Amino acid sequence: MQSSKVKAIGVLTSGGDAPGMNAAVRAVVRMGLKQGLEVYGIQNGWQGAVTGGDRITKMQWWSVGGVLQRGGTFLGTARCQEFREREGRRQAAVHLYQLGIDALVVIGGDGSLTGARLLAEEWPELLAEAAAQGQITLVAGETPRLAIVGLPGSIDNDTFGSDMSIGADTALHRIVTAADQLVSTASAHQRTFVMEVMGRNCGYLALAGALASGAHWVLIPEQELEPRWHQDLVSSLKQARAAGREHAIIMIAEGARHPDGLPLEASTVQELLAKRLGTDTRVTVLGHVQRGGAPSAFDRVLSTRLGAAAVADLMQHGADMAPRMLGIINNQVASTPLHEMVEKSQAVAERVEAGDYEGAVALRGHSFQEQLRLLKLLTQAAPAVEATRGNLLLLTAGHDAPGMNACLRVVTRVALNSGYQVWSATYGCEGLLAGELRPLGWMDVTGWSSRGGSEIGAGWYELRAEDLPQLAAVLAAHAIGAVVAIGGVDAYSALDLIAAHQAEYPALQVPMLAIPASINNNLPGTDFAIGADSALNNIVSALDKIKDTAGANRRAFIVEVMGWHSGYLALMAGLASGAEQIYLPEEGISLQGLMADVQALRQGFERGKRLSLLILNEIASRTYDLDTIRRIMEEEGGDLFDVRTVILGHLQRGGAPSPFDRILAARLGAAAIDHLNRGFAPDSLYRCIGLQGKRIASMDIREAMAQMDCPHERPRQEWFMTLRDLARSL
Ligand code: ADP
Repeated sequence: MQSSKVKAIGVLTSGGDAPGMNAAVRAVVRMGLKQGLEVYGIQNGWQGAVTGGDRITKMQWWSVGGVLQRGGTFLGTARCQEFREREGRRQAAVHLYQLGIDALVVIGGDGSLTGARLLAEEWPELLAEAAAQGQITLVAGETPRLAIVGLPGSIDNDTFGSDMSIGADTALHRIVTAADQLVSTASAHQRTFVMEVMGRNCGYLALAGALASGAHWVLIPEQELEPRWHQDLVSSLKQARAAGREHAIIMIAEGARHPDGLPLEASTVQELLAKRLGTDTRVTVLGHVQRGGAPSAFDRVLSTRLGAAAVADLMQHGADMAPRMLGIINNQVASTPLHEMVEKSQAVAERVEAGDYEGAVALRGHSFQEQLRLLKLLTQAAPAVEATRGNLLLLTAGHDAPGMNACLRVVTRVALNSGYQVWSATYGCEGLLAGELRPLGWMDVTGWSSRGGSEIGAGWYELRAEDLPQLAAVLAAHAIGAVVAIGGVDAYSALDLIAAHQAEYPALQVPMLAIPASINNNLPGTDFAIGADSALNNIVSALDKIKDTAGANRRAFIVEVMGWHSGYLALMAGLASGAEQIYLPEEGISLQGLMADVQALRQGFERGKRLSLLILNEIASRTYDLDTIRRIMEEEGGDLFDVRTVILGHLQRGGAPSPFDRILAARLGAAAIDHLNRGFAPDSLYRCIGLQGKRIASMDIREAMAQMDCPHERPRQEWFMTLRDLARSL
């Protein structure tokens, strides 16, 4: 019985390049080396395997240093015609076998993974043929096997088996940044822009880009257009203009089609609008900009998780394992048989080609459909129903977080469209207690998706039992029938307090719902809070800049980040930047630990390292604060290295929200009103909503607060702590 233990891994990136591929290769190489495997980097996708020779090189730990923040793929990628032929695959098999490679990690789209699947299937035969021709010598009695783990690398997000593919989030960053910039010039000139984004068979980028940027209309391959779709578009734009909206962005995926199935060009839409609306209409084709630049924090973490999981899978299942693809489903690594991934990924394109649009959208999954419906609602020019449901109060409580405005925009419009009259409280709880309430109308929230902070004002205020009579009086005076509070721990604690005293104040006995928004990501009942992803991206791009100063000699940077009692930002920033040490409030800091870290730093610098990055959560330890750690390290490091400290401070909160935060804000906001419309049980009037895996669910606020580690203001169970070991290993 032969052993199926994997001995050597080859890793390649193939097909279209996608930001984040480097992070995946880095994780495969380092985790592979840690497991004692040989790891080979194969250059230019399948072409490198077919060519062999110096196109396949042995990787060392340092071979993947400094690649995390680089866009594209340092291994190179290519489309390889020869590999589509059996002869090409035989050449590839020979080259890989000669190096003892018995497992491949292939990062690419469905085309690249189809190739991988074929290679694995044909592997024994290809090698037997090569042996018969004397190219290689097979061990007697051996049936050679090639294990395959595919990772979804595609900016289009068109791969089945992963909620997000590597590169899609970064591409969305490019799209949303460009759209934000277009909006400012569009409104200055009262122009309409038709913006073409990538996605030949997949409308994900266009749809998510439109939702995140507040675009007026979207045209995607999976959507069946009405024969007279252009009339709908024109009349919608006319209505919006009449309602005071002076500019518009139409997002179109490159694969959008006319109702008859023929390609629909951006220029066609431009001509149509110029003729029918008489507006100045311009086309912007984003093109390859979408693939470029440094990967987003999300893509770095996603790729790192998947790369590490690929090696773990190979170690666990050995060379005999069935080919599979690893992706992220419900925020967890999930495995899909490769044939299923390939078939289902290609099925959408086939359905679109066959004109079965409903089938295509169904294959894209529930949240795609939900986002499509939401976008249609948001782009109406006015609510579709009369206001008969009573008054809904909106407030942003606690510190501001990027994405609050995107959430306010969606909650306002969805609530108006459900028949509520919407009111906002100025500056959170304080404004509310002072009775500062203002109506919010449909057009008031135009353009809010992209704005940082909170347009209605947020403010930290701890609601006390003494405030409740005044609160009840304000709600009664304005006949408030429901409350939506977007915010952090303050908002949650306020609802918890109200729940405890509800019997005393009839005016407070109305449904109240908290939507999680806090850069600290420290709220119960949700994997992510609005704002955390933006803060993380702010941190990661600052860290990239710090790393760029590495020209300086042997320097350790200790960077202090926010997060309060939660290590989310510190841990994820550490993973996304390749930090050597991460200090978390969940773990605290000990002198012994610090001494070990100094030792590790010394060793690193002795071996020629020039820069080290250490990430410190702002309250990881009350005793060993930033300055104390600096002094200890400086003293113990001696002449070997310098220590510098950086406090990132408020820049972490600032700037335009990330696409992920805008989409999360939109989804949670829409779901919040949906939940209110369905009604709350009288014994559970105070609730919070959150994203759990892919699902949006609400829970009673008291149940949620019971999950908190109270003095520490963070959930007792934090999902991201499962990534702690990964950060250590890399
Ligand atoms: P993606 O992986 O992004 O979908 P492509 O479809 O261009 O990109 O595929 C990348 C490469 O994968 C191709 O150039 C080819 O070498 C290989 N490949 C794609 N489809 C097949 C196939 N059916 N058989 C063998 N190899 C394939």
